[in-house]
Amino acid sequence: MNQTNSSVDESREQLKSAVRELCREYPDKYWRELDEKRAYPEAFVQALTHAGYMATLIPEEYGGAGLGVTEASVILEEIHHSGGNAAACHAQMYIMGTLLRHGSEAHKRQYLPKIADGSLRLQAFGVSEPNTGTDTTQLKTMAVRTGDRYVINGQKIWISRAEHSDLMLLLARTTPADQVKKRTEGLSTILVDLRQAVGHGLRIRPIRTMMNHATTELFFDNLEVPAENLVGEEGQGFRYLLDSLNAERILIASECIGDARWFLERTCRYANERVVFGRPIGKNQGVQFPIARGYANLEAARLMVARAATLFDSGKACGPEANMAKLLAADVSWELANVAVQTYGGFGFAEEYDIERKFRETRLYQVAPISTNLILSYLAEHVLGLPRSY
Ligand SMILES: Cc1cc2nc3c(=O)[nH]c(=O)nc-3n(C[C@H](O)[C@H](O)[C@H](O)COP(=O)(O)OP(=O)(O)OC[C@H]3O[C@@H](n4cnc5c(N)ncnc54)[C@H](O)[C@@H]3O)c2cc1C
Repeated sequence: MNQTNSSVDESREQLKSAVRELCREYPDKYWRELDEKRAYPEAFVQALTHAGYMATLIPEEYGGAGLGVTEASVILEEIHHSGGNAAACHAQMYIMGTLLRHGSEAHKRQYLPKIADGSLRLQAFGVSEPNTGTDTTQLKTMAVRTGDRYVINGQKIWISRAEHSDLMLLLARTTPADQVKKRTEGLSTILVDLRQAVGHGLRIRPIRTMMNHATTELFFDNLEVPAENLVGEEGQGFRYLLDSLNAERILIASECIGDARWFLERTCRYANERVVFGRPIGKNQGVQFPIARGYANLEAARLMVARAATLFDSGKACGPEANMAKLLAADVSWELANVAVQTYGGFGFAEEYDIERKFRETRLYQVAPISTNLILSYLAEHVLGLPRSY
């Protein structure tokens, strides 16, 4: 290994220990109590922001750390490995990318430094709708240009963190679906200032879910937004969305890897300590084999996440790798979650052991931000050349 590689590895190790150190201040009890109340981890998000971790991907000229997806992955993985959950804030890392790649210089100067220093939060990404599901090209929420404003009407669902964010990047239709040449056209990305919008054409309804995830439903009723809040070109929003997906897949995969490591460590510890029939339960092959298999799958998934991140950071195409990283990492976190519950027996169901909480949390990644089926159809069609199935 040359000097440059070893110093890069060293700084990633330092980053990992610094994140671990920060997370130590937010132990199981912190997350358990929030889970019970379905409350937002405000103190944790503040600490993460003040330490500069939320600005990892923002270039230095706009006040960020100017690092890559590899470093962002280290941070998110370590949060989850420590037993925490970055879902309260991870989206800022990849939503910001749309602004960075497609926003005007004025937008970047106006927003990025404030996002970097924590005075503005861009945590919400408004894509999903109740009636269109995964078929994003059929979104119905309309933004009609009227003079120097867009007037927005429609409904969104599962828009996470909207109550805890200052800004939301909204994907809305600016040309009716029957007037576009290609079904991927006619959608636009628009920045909505939630501080001004709520109560003036936007209503937010929280949705209580099986895990603590500040997700909501949004109702737009003639919400007016300045036309200058359009990000990039009108009608090209779907393309911008696709642009951000690889980063999102890799970052979520890293969280799954963190969860999987957490489950693995807790499970090994418990299997060594718990004595039944006069010996540790981990002595039974029926108990140890699923753990060992989960470990092997974890290491394989980790390699895929690292490969996808390296390709992404060197500016190379990484669609298949990013999708496989998300698929394999979500599968292994779910596999090890099940192994943990099985190994803990009855105690796997007790809140005070945190296994059931993490089990509920990691189940999400089979469905969101993209469901496993849709990744498989991407691989089948775009990588393997099989016919399009939908
Ligand atoms: C907690 C949570 C947080 C979320 N946060 C956000 C957010 O911040 N912003 C946002 O925009 N969205 C968010 N989402 C939405 C999320 O991205 C979607 O739920 C997810 O993409 C699945 O879409 P859907 O729920 O509409 O399922 P549907 O599209 O209705 O699909 C239902 C099931 O059918 C399967 N299916 C559908 N079509 C096909 C097909 N052609 N082939 C095979 N299988 C198919 C799917 O795989 C899925 O299992 C969140 C969701 C949850 C649950």
